[in-house]
Amino acid sequence: MSTAAAGPVRLCHLYPDHLNIYADRGNIAVFQRRLEWRGLVLEVAEVGLGDPIPADCHLYYLGGGQDRDQKLVAEDLAQKADPLRQAAVDGAVVLGVCGGYQLLGHCYATADGQMVPGIGLLDVETTTGPSRLIGDVVLEVTLGGHTHTVVGYENHAGRTHLGGGCTPLGRLRRGHGNNGADGCEGAVAARTVGTYLHGPLLPKNPWLADTLLGWALDHAGCPVELAPLDDHLEQAAHAVAQTRAGQKR
Ligand code: GLN
Repeated sequence: MSTAAAGPVRLCHLYPDHLNIYADRGNIAVFQRRLEWRGLVLEVAEVGLGDPIPADCHLYYLGGGQDRDQKLVAEDLAQKADPLRQAAVDGAVVLGVCGGYQLLGHCYATADGQMVPGIGLLDVETTTGPSRLIGDVVLEVTLGGHTHTVVGYENHAGRTHLGGGCTPLGRLRRGHGNNGADGCEGAVAARTVGTYLHGPLLPKNPWLADTLLGWALDHAGCPVELAPLDDHLEQAAHAVAQTRAGQKR
């Protein structure tokens, strides 16, 4: 059951003007509405270039972006890295999508030979491959002892390889994933999650949205069991994405 005693969940949306392709901003709307439907509140702080990063948020979010925008924000993100890393150590949830995922890693080598530094919150490195990896993706994801399928859409040139400090978010049933070679997608270390999945990610994956919200509420000191919602529309969208990817079960 959700509880009215829970205070607002605070979310820091990093670089909404630069990292926001494929409607990744929709992930924030999902967090907001799924809390509202349980009588809970999401407060969103939009943090851009030169803005101070709040240290007391429960969720931090970086969306997808093209190489140009990643280069634009990388230096600024380095200035924010210490408080962000500390928040993650303290138990905050960090979610990075595609360009944001790459920036959570150690570095991203672009096609034009530039090295875009990341903040090393995830033990991953990304280099640019010879082609773009594009299409529908179906994953099998296990978090908190529960396994679900997760669907989305990928479009990236980056090939991401994981080090020993994190584990893949999921095993691929369809799609290219981190690098088109090892059958894995995304990365997880504690409550930091990176993924290539756009769509946006969360509307078609309500289980994943609630898992992240559960972690955020726990970090907020309000560990609540989120009441089930009527997710038939979300599940229908999930099923369509699976069918489109050729993986309906
Ligand atoms: N620029 C990165 C790549 O192509 C990320 C693209 C994205 O966020 N869709 O690998």
